[in-house]
Amino acid sequence: MSSKISATKTRLLSSLTFKIFAVCFASTHIPLIALVVFLLLGFDSNPAPVLGIILAATLIGTIFCLVTLWLMLRPLHDVSEAVQKYRAVGAIPQLSSRRKDEVGVVANGVTKLIADLDGTLAQLRVQASTDTLTGLGNRRWFKEIGTLEVVRAARENQVVSLIVFDLDHFKSINDEFGHEVGDRVLIAAGAVIEQNLRPYDAAARIGGEEFCVLLPRTPARDAVAIADRLRLSLAIQTVPPLAAGRVTASFGVYCGDARNETLEDMMAAADKQLYAAKKAGRNTVFWGTANPKDGSLRNQR
Ligand code: GH3
Ligand code: MG
Ligand code: MG
Repeated sequence: MSSKISATKTRLLSSLTFKIFAVCFASTHIPLIALVVFLLLGFDSNPAPVLGIILAATLIGTIFCLVTLWLMLRPLHDVSEAVQKYRAVGAIPQLSSRRKDEVGVVANGVTKLIADLDGTLAQLRVQASTDTLTGLGNRRWFKEIGTLEVVRAARENQVVSLIVFDLDHFKSINDEFGHEVGDRVLIAAGAVIEQNLRPYDAAARIGGEEFCVLLPRTPARDAVAIADRLRLSLAIQTVPPLAAGRVTASFGVYCGDARNETLEDMMAAADKQLYAAKKAGRNTVFWGTANPKDGSLRNQR
């Protein structure tokens, strides 16, 4: 019996409808209760004081009703502000209500939903910009970051260099040893890039076995040195069962003029150098520049 009573009590306390009904009932009956008490205590029953007491009790009942309803619905007001703030600036709400009724459930539910949604969106953003095999950025991410970097370089009148490289005879590795070994070679190439780059460089796998690295504030001479470091690091990788020295790549380097060239222009120019490196026998670095001050640098081999 007592468990039935406590279950009913819990159900009523978690019902917003019941609470609103109770508040409205109490507020509308305050004038009546005040009048009964007034008369029972033997006060003057003339119309004027009776009217006065009814008016005062009505006013008190109205204020009680207003304040109580406002307190009851306040969490919803906080939630609506939090939703607007999240949409405007992405701030995750830190709301928590101990209420068990629908208002508490909505307030806590929306807060949790926003936090979950934000986490999922962040995960999706990372997935959409990452190459799952190597952990580097993907082509789409590289284009976004690279374009911003070229715009920044133009504004600050700074040089920016690009390295593109493509694994040599990669198809034959796949054909001889299988795709799984080919994938391990790609992972090893990704790791070589990670180990050799500075924190502000941006690297991506932009195609099957083609990689691109953007080097902000880096003149041609330094970019060629970095590309050659990558080339040598790659050539000493051991990826069993491949023989030592089997993994090599050809490199194209281009130092661009950010005020007159787009990222696409620079990528095309670096690609041209890569093509020349392939033609010259592979496992080599070819370079070009938009800056006449770069003078002559020997292609690396
Ligand atoms: P080259 O030296 O002229 O670049 O020759 P290549 O054999 O490296 O170039 P080609 O374009 O003929 O072959 C590229 C191969 O890369 C073909 C394709 O099956 C393979 N490939 C592309 N993406 C992946 C991948 O994600 N995993 C593996 N294992 N292979 C891939
Ligand atoms: Mg290749
Ligand atoms: Mg290729």
